[in-house]
Amino acid sequence: MPAFALEREQREWCAWLRTTAAERLRPLADKGDPGRVNRPLVAALGELGLLERLFASGALDLCLMRESLAYACTEAETALALQGLGAHPVAAHGTEAQRARWLPEVTAGRAVAAFALSEPDAGSDAAALALKAERDSGGWRLSGEKCWISNAPEADFCTVFARTTEGAGARGVTAFLVPADRSGLSGTALDMLSPHPVGTLVFDGVRVGADDVLGEPDRGFRVAMGTLNLFRPSVGAFAVGMAQAALDATVAHTARRSAFGGPLKDLQAVAHQVAEMATRTEAARLLVYGAAAAYDRGAPEVPKYSAMAKLLATETAQYVVDAAVQLHGARALRRGHLLEHLYREVRAPRIYEGATEVQRTIIAKELYR
Ligand SMILES: Cc1cc2nc3c(=O)[nH]c(=O)nc-3n(C[C@H](O)[C@H](O)[C@H](O)COP(=O)(O)OP(=O)(O)OC[C@H]3O[C@@H](n4cnc5c(N)ncnc54)[C@H](O)[C@@H]3O)c2cc1C
Repeated sequence: MPAFALEREQREWCAWLRTTAAERLRPLADKGDPGRVNRPLVAALGELGLLERLFASGALDLCLMRESLAYACTEAETALALQGLGAHPVAAHGTEAQRARWLPEVTAGRAVAAFALSEPDAGSDAAALALKAERDSGGWRLSGEKCWISNAPEADFCTVFARTTEGAGARGVTAFLVPADRSGLSGTALDMLSPHPVGTLVFDGVRVGADDVLGEPDRGFRVAMGTLNLFRPSVGAFAVGMAQAALDATVAHTARRSAFGGPLKDLQAVAHQVAEMATRTEAARLLVYGAAAAYDRGAPEVPKYSAMAKLLATETAQYVVDAAVQLHGARALRRGHLLEHLYREVRAPRIYEGATEVQRTIIAKELYR
């Protein structure tokens, strides 16, 4: 396999994904309720076999899917990613019974998953999470709140990280698979800058048993970090897909738009800006693919490369989308324009799954290990 290029079949698959996203998924996304789970869109991802592929293939495939879908339909990209994030702990750590109950439903797009780690007082410092799991007749009762949980409160089940041992930091956290119909579980949707299905979850003595544990008691933080190591490069891939969409729109626009007696592209300041956008996008893409490939071959440097890929790609996409808005002028800011959408959409990935500063901390920790 060539070290620095995708195979022909991978390139063809990406082209098919972009076309499918534009022609089949975009219309479904447009019909959805902004900021709410779009079940027809999730079902279509299931019918296309993409959700099954989430669990059957590796990190590079995940990145190719996210990048290609993001290019033409960020809503489809996000719906796919969230199914993966919420259900990956079940695929990787679930018992036979848990996997048999939920994975076929998730891959068919009939069940919606959520990954519930963040809390009002524990975001970047996830090991400080306080959702209480108190021992209760052979099981636990969960009490407390989760916040900024994608797909909440509409998800059919959540992977929930709760504190089973007080004062033990990351070592006292357990992952539970909590079906949405458990008594005492409720939540509220939150409205964001860019519509995203996200909300709070409130646990009022929600009963969970030994059968609901994912992995082992007090070892849940590993479940969370393992999931994030897989998904971080793919957040970068999402960002690269958006950057590429912004770049392509800019190349087309600056070739077409006339000012000062010729197309904008004939102004060197414009052409150099576009060249810089393209170079940075390609650099981010290569780092994302490199990190994903490192994950797939089980390289020891996965945490470092995952963090680098997420950091560089999300920061690059912000730069590229902002420059694209500038080169489009006022039209980019009009409600409904592709760049108006991307300008809002590109912001959150620099914060979730570890803010930019947290990625730098991870990279530095690995360097000085
Ligand atoms: C659209 C969206 C979807 C989300 N989906 C999910 C989800 O599905 N599941 C889930 O569990 N969570 C989810 N989150 C939450 C997300 O993971 C948190 O927002 C993130 O971890 C940051 O936590 P915080 O917002 O509490 O910010 P804080 O932890 O309060 O940090 C605020 C800022 O402080 C700075 N900072 C923090 N720590 C450091 C540090 N160590 N060094 C230097 N600077 C630092 C950074 O600038 C950071 O952005 C989502 C968030 C968004 C916006």
